[in-house]
Parts: sequence; structure tokens; C-alpha cells
Amino acid sequence: MDYVSTRGLAPGFGFDDVLLAGLAGDGGLYLPREWPHFSPAEIRAMRGLSYPELAARVMRPFMEGSAVEAELPRLCLESYQGFAHPAVAPLKQLDADRWVMELFHGPTLAFKDYALQLVGRLFDAVLARRGARVTIVGATSGDTGSAAIESCRDRAAVDILILHPQGRVSEVQRRQMTTVLSGNVRNLAVAGTFDDCQDLVKALFADHAFRDEVHLSAVNSINWARVMAQIVYYFWAALALGAPDRPVGFSVPTGNFGNVFAGYAARLMGLPVERLVVASNSNDILTRFFASGVMRTSGVVPTLSPSMDIQVSSNFERLMALTVPGGGAAVADLMATFRQSGAMTLPETAWQAMRAVFSADRLDDAATLAAMRRLKETTGETFDPHSAIGVAAALRAEVPDGLPLVALATAHPAKFPDAVERATGARPGLPPHLADLFARPERVEPVANDAEALKSVVRAFAGRNRA
Ligand SMILES: *Cc1c(COP(=O)(O)O)cnc(C)c1O
Repeated sequence: MDYVSTRGLAPGFGFDDVLLAGLAGDGGLYLPREWPHFSPAEIRAMRGLSYPELAARVMRPFMEGSAVEAELPRLCLESYQGFAHPAVAPLKQLDADRWVMELFHGPTLAFKDYALQLVGRLFDAVLARRGARVTIVGATSGDTGSAAIESCRDRAAVDILILHPQGRVSEVQRRQMTTVLSGNVRNLAVAGTFDDCQDLVKALFADHAFRDEVHLSAVNSINWARVMAQIVYYFWAALALGAPDRPVGFSVPTGNFGNVFAGYAARLMGLPVERLVVASNSNDILTRFFASGVMRTSGVVPTLSPSMDIQVSSNFERLMALTVPGGGAAVADLMATFRQSGAMTLPETAWQAMRAVFSADRLDDAATLAAMRRLKETTGETFDPHSAIGVAAALRAEVPDGLPLVALATAHPAKFPDAVERATGARPGLPPHLADLFARPERVEPVANDAEALKSVVRAFAGRNRA
């Protein structure tokens, strides 16, 4: 399988290079040159597969030619066997045609585990074949860091250092990172804000000599392999609800557009995904875009659903590349305009093509709390703020009669106990596998808000294996 950049200028790559590169050399994002397609008969034949079996079946075409293609079934088995629910991604029925798919049964209680558990193993497997190592450095405001650490802990070919702003992440989030005592994991508490952490990471990547010296790498949400692994649970839910013989829709709490784009990718592969509801919080750049055809940034406001507090949805560029006439050059032009002016108007044909599948909705914090309270009363289910936004959007979405609509629950309520308690009056408890989280020993190193100081920490850590 050959991959090309959304901006059309970077050279085509195979799967393994796309996995390790993340971002394309021209600043674009990778997409398969041709989409694998499953016939209705092939989709019907997926019924009854276990989650890991389905994962290998759906992802295999994307990995054609990879050095680790034959290892995929085993890697899928290992990735999902530790999940806390036997169904991995269980479905619950809310009313006649509304459903919830729980994507929070992984080690860190958020949907990012579903992709990252596999991606960490893919990194390790590909690097082992090449006899290479990487040093992954990332910044987190709380949620992504723990999922990345869990995906890389104890992997032979990977070291990982995660920066978080000291004293500015919740205790659950900090402990999910700092209680991982594996030798290849370092938690760094930066004297500064999340933006400082991000700037430090950018400074490291901008220093090319340093980047090459420690083999710097990232596992951020623009990595194609993360999107690929997310496609699987769209098949999982649709198959359970009658695909390919019955169409289905999804409602997705959205930030960087990676999750909901995977639903669109499933549609391109032949799954009858008729509707995708993009659910946002007050940071509603996407809601405004789908209403107007104009993407326009405004400042980020902090909300109760911090993983959706975004200024720009990076994965949206992938949807542009598939709908904007004129190919990579047209996408590159639009992105340049957007970067310079903070706004871009998409061609009418692209906007209309998107609106044939996507609709959008938004809930501010007050509406989110009200939805959490109401859902607890009417369904008995406790939702975290992110999930509640997706469920509320699903319940009020206008869809064709009888179309089953699946809301993706992207985080466990115990991950956001303060908001849940505020909305429902009850504080959610941690699931059994994390019940002793507050008793576990922590390991974390303070670092100054200074790129050179950080470089010496990273250099020493990455160098310890070579000494
Ligand atoms: C990351 C995240 C999101 C947003 O997903 P995107 O792929 O960035 O759109 C939503 N909810 C939770 C809980 C998350 O961690």
C-alpha cells in the first residue's frame, strides 16, 4: 500500500515509513493512494469475528508490503486482550434507534487507547526489524500523555518522555502517567503552562542535529496509523447493528477530527455509514464551518471537555484532500491562506460533498452539565463531559427514520470526576484495574522551562542504552 501527502509534494511512502514519519515532509498528512474496499459479501463475512480478529481483517490491506504485515493478528490480540470489557467496545441501547459505544475500557480510560495500544506495538515491531530505536517526546495537558505512555511502556525499541505542566493536570491524570515506573518511561513536570510544554517540544523538533542525534519521534493524532486503528470500531458497531444490510450513523465528540475522520474512512471502504454527527463544545470552529463553508479560528476557551478544546482540527485536512477539486496543490493553497489569515472558504462542491455525510452540533458547558444530569435521570447511565456531548448531539440529531445512530463514549466518567459530581451529585469511582491508583508510588522529574535543559535530560535518557 502506497501513501501520499494531502499536499501532494512529499514522496510516496510505504506503511512502515508513514508510521515512523507521522507528518509528511511537505507539512501534509498521509493518506492511502487508493482506498481498500470491502464488498457487502466480505463485510457480511466479518460478522462474528472477535474484536482483535476484526481489527486484523480491516487493517490488513493498509499494511500490504509492511515488514510486519504477518505479525498483525498477533499484535491486535496483544493490543486488546488487556481491555477491561470482554467485548472491548461494548454497545448499549439508549432508545429505539440510539446507541452508545463505550470506548473507554482500555488502560487509561479514553478512546485513544484503542489506537495507541496498537501503534506502540507497531512502532516496536517495525523498529526491531530495522535494528533501530526512537525517542518519543510529547507534551500533554492531561489526557494524551497517559495513553502514549501506556502504549510505549516496556517496548524494547522505544524510549518515551512526556512533559506536563507542573500542578496543572488533574490528580487522576498525573497519576495515570507518573505511576508507570517502566525503565523506558520518564515523566517531566515543567515549571510552566501546557503551551510552554508544547513550545519546548517544538524547539526540540526544530533542532535538526538534536533530532537526528536522539532519533526523535512522536505519536500524535495526525499519525496515519492512529486513524487506521480507529476505523475498526466503526466496523464493529455497524456489523452489530446489521451492516452491510442496514445503514448506520455515528455521533462523535470531536477535537482534532481524527476519530470522526476514521468513520468517514470506514465509509470509503464500503461500510454503509450514512451520517456522521460532529459534536463540539464551545470551541465550535467545526460547527460554524459546516453551517457556513468558512473555517475561521477564534481563541480557545477552556471547557469541562478539555480534550476537545482546540483552535484548529488538524485531521480535517484529510477530508479536504478527498473533497476539494484540484488535488494537493489546492489543499496546500487553502492551508497557506488559513495559516496566514486564520480563515479559509472551501469550494462550494467540497462543502456540499461534506454536508451530504456530516452534520454538526455544539454544547457549551451549561448544556453539557444539563445533558449529563438528564441522561443520568432518563437512562441511568453516567457519562463524562466529552461523551455526554456526543450522546446529546445524537439524541437531537435529525436523521432519516429508523437509522440507528451510535454515539461514541470517548472517556470513562471516572476520568473527569469533578465535572461528573457537579452534574449528577455522585462522584464516580475508578474501575477495578485502577482502584489502587492513589496508593501507587509516583516517579516524576521537575524540569525548567528551558529547551537546552530539556535537551540534556532527553540526551542523557536516550544515551543510557548506548553507554
Ligand atoms: C482526544 C479526545 C477527543 C477528541 O478526539 P479527536 O480525534 O481529536 O477528534 C474526544 N474525547 C476524548 C475523551 C478525547 O480524549
